[in-house]
Amino acid sequence: APRPADNLSIARAVRLWPIEEIAHRLGLSGEVVEPYGRGIAKLDLAAMTSLAERPRGRYVVVTSMTPTPPGEGKTTTAIGLVQGLQRLGHIASVALRQPSMGPTLGLKGGATGGGYSQVLPMERINLHLTGDIHAVGAAHNLLAAMVDNHLHHRLEPELDPREVRWQRVIDLNDRALRHLVLGIGGRGDGFPRQGGFEITAASEVMAVLALADSLADLRRRLGRLIVGLDRAGEPVTAEQVGAAGAMTVLLKEALKPNLLQTLEHAPALIHAGPFGNIAHGNSSVVADHIGLHASDFLVTEAGFGADMGAERFFNIKCRASGLAPDAAVLVVTVRALKYHSGRHRVVPGQPLPASLLGESPDEVREGGANLLKQIDNVRAHGLTPVVAINAFPSDHQSEHTAIRELCASVGVRAEVSTHARDGGEGALGLAQALIETMNEADEAGSGFHFLYPADLPLAAKIERIATRLYGAEGVDFAPGVRERLETWQRQDYGTFPVCIAKTHMSLSHDASRLGAPTGWRLPVREVRLSAGAGFVYALAGDIRTMPGLSASPAATRLDIDEDGETVGLY
Ligand code: ADP
Ligand code: MG
Repeated sequence: APRPADNLSIARAVRLWPIEEIAHRLGLSGEVVEPYGRGIAKLDLAAMTSLAERPRGRYVVVTSMTPTPPGEGKTTTAIGLVQGLQRLGHIASVALRQPSMGPTLGLKGGATGGGYSQVLPMERINLHLTGDIHAVGAAHNLLAAMVDNHLHHRLEPELDPREVRWQRVIDLNDRALRHLVLGIGGRGDGFPRQGGFEITAASEVMAVLALADSLADLRRRLGRLIVGLDRAGEPVTAEQVGAAGAMTVLLKEALKPNLLQTLEHAPALIHAGPFGNIAHGNSSVVADHIGLHASDFLVTEAGFGADMGAERFFNIKCRASGLAPDAAVLVVTVRALKYHSGRHRVVPGQPLPASLLGESPDEVREGGANLLKQIDNVRAHGLTPVVAINAFPSDHQSEHTAIRELCASVGVRAEVSTHARDGGEGALGLAQALIETMNEADEAGSGFHFLYPADLPLAAKIERIATRLYGAEGVDFAPGVRERLETWQRQDYGTFPVCIAKTHMSLSHDASRLGAPTGWRLPVREVRLSAGAGFVYALAGDIRTMPGLSASPAATRLDIDEDGETVGLY
């Protein structure tokens, strides 16, 4: 039998409300609500037009300090916060990424919150949901098939087989697919070349789905995807291969946000799931547009720490959507602060060491440099964050006090939040602190601004993020990188924002540098163009776009019980 407080058993004890009722609370009528099974509906984009007249609610992003491998609870806190706001009488919706199935079956085991702050039904959300990720895979792989067909038939413009950049994707962790030889067999079997698979979340199509603000915009962005180079070294696009129209058709349903509910029946929009390192790692623009106009508060999570997820939320997603956030919540935990003291060894994939659990306010203070830097990183965008102390059973009062003092020293509100144990009731203090902070910003006339203007040169954008947010002394560009950036600068891409792919385990590019490291430089070894999504990304470290499985993947624990119910997700 499952443990009593197991996430899955808590989730299963709750009776879902009909999804129409949740939609009704958002003022969404029958014709835009397309039920997709119990407790799940897709929202037609016509909702964007019908809601446009309504004033928009407050836009809140949830981010965190630099996390430990298991995560500090951004998803859980975002869910708890909307449940708290709902208890205060507001209509509050949460917007989240759809978890990628590969990691769910690999390391993560689920990404739908925890305890009494979860979105439901978690078995559906974590596995397949309404098939959006598979649709992204189908659209992506259609383009791959058309690229190889283009080569086979030597169609115009003639692709250079050595310069094809478009890989295949699948939503599973499968390292054996990373490097492949395609097209072997014979004359009728295609053109032999090297290829491989990435996980679907790493597909540029996923980033496009997340950033498009209409079906027409999706079509335009897909047309701009670069699949490789021709014999003269000029980019060849999905439009030129003739695939963009069919890809758009395959993605028509996937562009509609999914409406679900939390344990306390607050609306949850779960839509799109781009990678957080080579892409911007945020849920969709269309879901935010709908949720903002239908709610008093739309709370969305940005992946990883504030240096990465929130920075991309601010400078990539908000630039694409034209929506300015009103507030930010920064999640911290006692365990992550102790980890950043540098006194503990944490191995990814293994349980956190017991040494992190003993009472030690001194270690919390020692790790505080990371929290202060991430607070500053939010402030660099004009917003004063509210710090959410995500409480764990192993925390001590003295440690919470230490965090409050740290925050008070820089004029930031900090609230202990027990939403994992108590649901929305446990997040009331956080919800109130958030509202007070927004009111104060209104009175002061302060508010959101980008970190850099669109017309700052690409190389300078990378330098601005590295020095201002990561704390680097500067950037070392590998040979040829500056030249590439300058070429894009002369083409149409100079106004693109940049996305820096590095480890999320440190403010630097080196996961072993904890706290707020100083005296280092960011090495950028390569830059790539995501012309469809609309950003340039810079590689600072080895980024795997196809994860592998561990010796004991979560999939080995997934099964059905005697009633046919899923067990083993958490
Ligand atoms: P993030 O979104 O920052 O990666 P999650 O919200 O997914 O973090 O939380 C990571 C894991 O920790 C999840 O398994 C979640 O259920 C668990 N968790 C989060 N907050 C708490 C808490 N306060 N108490 C116990 N478990 C928690
Ligand atoms: Mg999360």
